[in-house]
Amino acid sequence: MGAPLLPVAEARRLIVEDLASVAPETVKLEEALGRVLRADAVAQVSHPPADVSAMDGYALCFESLKGIPQTLTVSGESAAGHPYRNIVRPGEAVRIFTGAYVPPGADTIVIQENTIASESGVTINEHPRLGQHIRPAGQDFRKGDVVLTSPRLLTARDVALLAAMNLPHVPVSRRPIVGVLSTGDEVVLPGDPIADGQIVSANGPGLCAFVTAHGGEPLHLGVVKDDPKALLRIAEQVAHLDLLVTSGGVSVGDHDVVKAALSSAGFKAGFHKVAMRPGKPLLYGRLHNLPVLGLPGNPVSAMVCATLFLSSALARLQGLPGDGPRTMSAQLGTDLKANDSRADFIRATLQHGNGLPVATPFPVQDSGMVATLARADALIVREPQASAAKAGDTVSIILLN
Ligand code: AMP
Ligand code: MG
Repeated sequence: MGAPLLPVAEARRLIVEDLASVAPETVKLEEALGRVLRADAVAQVSHPPADVSAMDGYALCFESLKGIPQTLTVSGESAAGHPYRNIVRPGEAVRIFTGAYVPPGADTIVIQENTIASESGVTINEHPRLGQHIRPAGQDFRKGDVVLTSPRLLTARDVALLAAMNLPHVPVSRRPIVGVLSTGDEVVLPGDPIADGQIVSANGPGLCAFVTAHGGEPLHLGVVKDDPKALLRIAEQVAHLDLLVTSGGVSVGDHDVVKAALSSAGFKAGFHKVAMRPGKPLLYGRLHNLPVLGLPGNPVSAMVCATLFLSSALARLQGLPGDGPRTMSAQLGTDLKANDSRADFIRATLQHGNGLPVATPFPVQDSGMVATLARADALIVREPQASAAKAGDTVSIILLN
């Protein structure tokens, strides 16, 4: 009997509490997508900068319109980028276009569809509302407003907003540098010659891609044999990285050398086993200053553990809380048996339903099957000891991508 298995949330908490955020750096806005904002963003301009027209039509003084229809003199034009500078007086109208400044004196816009232009001016055919179709200065935000707060993972929509705030550069977390090392005598890199008994490393490229997708910069360290000295040599060479992720060799088999190798050099384990499936052997700790996350070798386990824990580690390193992938509700597509003492993460596809999406598990959940993981839309989350569930029951899912 070993130590009791750690609950998933507890394991995540230990990782997140152990990690601190990397330093910020300033990047061009064009490079800010997917980065974490490290200071509150303050608008350098108001948006819109002045009262502007939301429509193509005529700007006029509301009080001009005593009766409808009524003809007004057209005294000029205000186009986007070409404001009309004179004062608009009662009895006058100014031709105006979307985005153009509303000229001084005017307080109402009538859309062109409700007017008739003629030699003598413009005839207004609607009873407007005072102030209609005008976007007031600063309606969106004002100069000096804190519009986005830190920390925040920046989306393309955020980039558009920051641009509108006239911020060409933003402070973001630098990309954490994460070493990815596969272990195993049998493991070769994709494209290398494959001898009898060898398999191709899914984890090295897969975990590197995962790191990139979560804002980090992967350093692919290749494959090391199940040889404690070789493993330790590499770990010591990368002591300056923000995180080392290994795959394989963390179970309790004769060839599972990761923990023993690191421990011989002073590795302090935070935990070693988590109450989950796929997964269970999952090692986290520090080799002096270097945080090390040891994932199981099985590619499905490795990628599911990355989804649950490496994502949080990367988030935390970038200054976010790292409280794990978001879950949402779905309707179960098939019956499920009662669960045992380990949380279960079941690969499933999602279909539209009447209301909640329907999550249907792949019939075979063998943790050696990487193809079903790649094709899955979601992981159904089954808590430890969850009772049997019927098709149609509501379950919690983690969306993949
Ligand atoms: P281990 O965790 O080292 O006991 O490995 C568990 C299983 O995953 C074994 O079948 C290994 O051959 C396989 N495995 C280990 N590392 C990798 C890898 N990088 N890519 C694909 N499969 C792997
Ligand atoms: Mg192995």
